[in-house]
Amino acid sequence: MAPWGYEKDNGPAHWHKDCPIANGKNQSPIDLINGEVKYDSGLKPLTAKYVPFSDAKFLNNGHSVQFQPSAGNGSELTGGPLAVKYNFEQFHFHWGNNDTEGSEHRVDGKMYPAELHFVHWNSTNPSFKDAVGSGGPNGLAVLGFFLKVGAENAALKPITDLIPKVKDAGTSVTVPSNFDMQAILPATLTDYYTYDGSLTTPPLAECVKWIVFKQPLEVSAAQMEAFRSVINRDGKPMGGNYRPPCPLHDRAVKTSFK
Ligand SMILES: [Zn+2]
Repeated sequence: MAPWGYEKDNGPAHWHKDCPIANGKNQSPIDLINGEVKYDSGLKPLTAKYVPFSDAKFLNNGHSVQFQPSAGNGSELTGGPLAVKYNFEQFHFHWGNNDTEGSEHRVDGKMYPAELHFVHWNSTNPSFKDAVGSGGPNGLAVLGFFLKVGAENAALKPITDLIPKVKDAGTSVTVPSNFDMQAILPATLTDYYTYDGSLTTPPLAECVKWIVFKQPLEVSAAQMEAFRSVINRDGKPMGGNYRPPCPLHDRAVKTSFK
């Protein structure tokens, strides 16, 4: 089979051939059904402490555009459903070709135009790779934010301004050192859905504590269009780089909000 992607001949429906876990019982993303989630009063706010990066790259890996600092920066995530400290690894995006599609998670069946994933790994492991391979749902913690079209997002502008420079697969640029990643996040990380799931791209490992925020972030129409100009590894527009929702099976989705 061709390397995985999002085209007809290598898209999500084909991934199980190289990754049988694609048909597993703890796969992501899922549809978040508000009538079926359970409020958990024990779910406290998260604390993300993101310190400035001196040598981060923004890159097109052929299936997304990704902010990638070098390892060991000291940015970390704690609290909420997490029992230990998680180290920041990278963030990346999933988006559609128009505003009616693009996010991986859905809310009551509805997609947002895009979804931003902040990926962190369990600090009791020696490395990100070890955390992915550690087995069980506590290897990674991913913060998911829906993006909707509205006001310009000033915090994301340093990143969206770099998109034209990584239009083609395999390209990368250095991110200016004054980029403030913390500014992307809301002031408090309070209202979220959480469940045990997987990576949404091969190898689809079931190692992720998902934390998906209720309140979307806003980006301008121009910022959204910048994403839609990106080209994937198959030489096609990258928009549509999302996996459709997977069955929930026996899992529970909990919320920190009523
Ligand atoms: Zn993702």
